[in-house]
Amino acid sequence: MSSFALPAPEAVIDVARIRRDFPALAQLVHGRPLVFLDSAASSQKPVQVLETMDSLYRTSYANVHRGAYAFSRHSTDLYDAARAKVAAFIHAPTPEQIVFTRNATEALNLLAYSYGRTFLQPGDEIVLTELEHHANDLPWQLLARERGLVLKRIPLTPDGTLDLRTLDTLITPRTRLVSFAHVSNVLGTITDPRPIIARAHAVGAVVVLDACQSVPHLPVDVQALGADFLVFSGHKMLGPTGIGALYGRADLLAAMPPFLTGGDVAREVDFDAVEWEAAPLKFEAGTPAFVEAIGLGAAIDYLEAIGMERVRAHERELVTYALELLGELPGVQLFGPRDPELRSGVVTFTVEGIAPQDLALALDQCGVAIRSGRHCAHPLHRRLGLTASARASFAIYNDAADVEALHDGIVAIQRRAGTTRAAVPSRYADCGGVA
Ligand code: PMP
Repeated sequence: MSSFALPAPEAVIDVARIRRDFPALAQLVHGRPLVFLDSAASSQKPVQVLETMDSLYRTSYANVHRGAYAFSRHSTDLYDAARAKVAAFIHAPTPEQIVFTRNATEALNLLAYSYGRTFLQPGDEIVLTELEHHANDLPWQLLARERGLVLKRIPLTPDGTLDLRTLDTLITPRTRLVSFAHVSNVLGTITDPRPIIARAHAVGAVVVLDACQSVPHLPVDVQALGADFLVFSGHKMLGPTGIGALYGRADLLAAMPPFLTGGDVAREVDFDAVEWEAAPLKFEAGTPAFVEAIGLGAAIDYLEAIGMERVRAHERELVTYALELLGELPGVQLFGPRDPELRSGVVTFTVEGIAPQDLALALDQCGVAIRSGRHCAHPLHRRLGLTASARASFAIYNDAADVEALHDGIVAIQRRAGTTRAAVPSRYADCGGVA
């Protein structure tokens, strides 16, 4: 639908060319070129996505699954096509196994509510890990409290990977569900899900994979991995906000009751009876965010035109360079595995003598946008002995110059805080003061 051409599949990602597709990145912030390093929170959007949504709203917008008339049929066709694109992107066997949700958080709550409240009994065990985002922690904590379930967590090793030696003792015949992040939003750790899934399946437990930080950044094949459920959000993968996806095994989706109810979830309703639709409609109550779903389809087209292998290779190079440059700075402590093969484009760190929040504010004055805080992973921060951390994260529109800008910004801030003797990099001669 977009009239903008998709990126050409070059051997090496042409970042300058890609950046031209992202209008937000061409701006000045505080009078300086924007260096956007917070894509793990949410990514910027290419014109191909913006135009797809804008054009639908302008030219042929109507509600889906409602009308016999042309606009409604057109919207419905595009919505169905978006579902098929999501299915193909993660190698799901059929589009009907993709439920559109608002985001990954809603998908996880749907699972805890629908699967958890139907199939888990008091005394059953759920296994999570020590590095989960609250979205994959609180729905299970709530359910465990309500239902008298036992929560266990796979621990972290000192290098920020999961300690898989504990699998056989933690995942037992009492375990009914195992849910974990494919990639950590804090440490960037890429966990190979296969040994965990194999152990879970060996004891008859179902597996939920939180793929929020993996689907946008590396090839994911849900059938090859064998996860029973998988969730992710559109807004972290160049798509719009308000749209996410839940993949589910067909027999499990068929056995689960609806989460929210209302329009579209039922085939037949009487004053005292209801016959539910099949999945995915059973789980998509009310008017869905179909324009956003179609926008997500355009984001998938964009990523596929580049190729997820190349996206991953590019971001691995960036994280390698960032670990090298920041690792050389006195006072900077890096967290997570040092092996770039084991990590996505996320670098979390602290700078001695400068609170992460102050660091982020001072970097912002230099035009560099990073995240500070606990990144919705309070237990993990407690486990690491941190009250907060700073996080820089990469996407296909970042390049080595962005990593150097981050490095120089930190040096400028350290110099102004009096924690280094290094000279202030000239480009940041007039910014970087800590309030
Ligand atoms: N899981 C992980 C690993 C995440 O990084 C995030 C977003 N930071 C979420 C879940 C929740 O995503 P959303 O807020 O889009 O629902």
